[in-house]
Amino acid sequence: MRYPWWTNGVKFSCQTGCGKCCDEPGGIVYLSRHDARRISASLSMPVEDWLARDCEQTLDGRYILKSRQSDGICIYLSEQKTCNIYLHRPQQCAAFPWWAENLATERAWNQTKLECPGLTAEDAILIDGNTIKIHVLADRQSTKGFREW
Ligand code: SF4
Repeated sequence: MRYPWWTNGVKFSCQTGCGKCCDEPGGIVYLSRHDARRISASLSMPVEDWLARDCEQTLDGRYILKSRQSDGICIYLSEQKTCNIYLHRPQQCAAFPWWAENLATERAWNQTKLECPGLTAEDAILIDGNTIKIHVLADRQSTKGFREW
């Protein structure tokens, strides 16, 4: 059995005040059912109302977070580049940079390193392979998404 290249861990430390991974026009955040339950509950809203207010559906019907009409950025990113629902943020957001698509090829990973200063930061610490795997699986589950509530 061949183990993925990141099995022995990868150095990373999210940089306070960075927010680059969220500050991306046209970025898509797929949602899991678990996300919908957690986030709507944190806002004291029925899931259906939250989906109608803060989410939209892709052409193939999967639920994603809405972006602002003015600049295409996630509706939950504040002016200070912080997440307004950080404690309850979607698992795909929490899984960055450990997205399957980022880890899939050397080219994709090099691009991710250019986009995420946390991967080359001096204070980066080793994130173990099991932790990375949990994020990869969460990202996969979110990408599959859901189409009906
Ligand atoms: S781009 Fe990387 S360092 Fe910056 S906020 Fe996102 S995860 Fe953290």
